[in-house]
Amino acid sequence: MSDLIIHQIPVLKDNFIYLVHDPESGETAAVDPAIASPVMDVLKEKGWSLSYIWNTHHHNDHTGGNLELKKATGCSIVGAVADASRIPGIDIQLAEGDLVSIGQHKAKIFEVSGHTVGHIAYWIEGDHVLFSGDTLFSSGCGRLFEGTPEQMWASLLKLRNLPDETNVFCAHEYTVANVKFALTIEPENDSLKRRASQAQRLREDGKSTVPSNLGEEKRYNPFLRADNDSLLSATGLVGQDAVSVFAEIRRRKDVF
Ligand SMILES: [Zn+2]
Repeated sequence: MSDLIIHQIPVLKDNFIYLVHDPESGETAAVDPAIASPVMDVLKEKGWSLSYIWNTHHHNDHTGGNLELKKATGCSIVGAVADASRIPGIDIQLAEGDLVSIGQHKAKIFEVSGHTVGHIAYWIEGDHVLFSGDTLFSSGCGRLFEGTPEQMWASLLKLRNLPDETNVFCAHEYTVANVKFALTIEPENDSLKRRASQAQRLREDGKSTVPSNLGEEKRYNPFLRADNDSLLSATGLVGQDAVSVFAEIRRRKDVF
């Protein structure tokens, strides 16, 4: 089985669309196409044809290109069964544990509610790839527009349980702002300090900070560390349960 090619397309202010291409089968998926035209441009340039759209959730900056791409390419649109009424043009409805294929590569679906109810993530184990949408960002997590802290913490735990070698392809370039906030939570965290200066450098060079490595996220992302002793000491939240700690960190980020 040949490796997947993942092409990152920065669009709008800070969104990422990903094209996932399997050279063996020739199949290509577009993950969260906010808009159609940059996707069409890359498909043309690469000589790829679009087989699928994989949506993580219903927000317009993730699904805005769905119908135009479907019309132009005849691709099938894949999304959460829980969000079927809110995802334009959906053809294939997925739930926890379902598998979707691109050639012989299989992505496993996790239901990760919190940012929205009905948000899903796509994990391609063999390629160490996670499309986390607006659930898990580098050094951050999505705002709780529809879900509760309980739901989001449970969702983040599912993703935290994945292997350290997983590459996290999130849907926004938020890292520099996220590490600034994270440093207010854990100012003495060395992994976080390293990530902060690395992210700053990458952005100054006009480069993307995404994907990030999940093993490292576990060491510096405060939203994955609501049950971590160092974080509890640093925040004065010792003795509180993880959901309360998570909710408090999320609240602080909302007003940061
Ligand atoms: Zn969103």
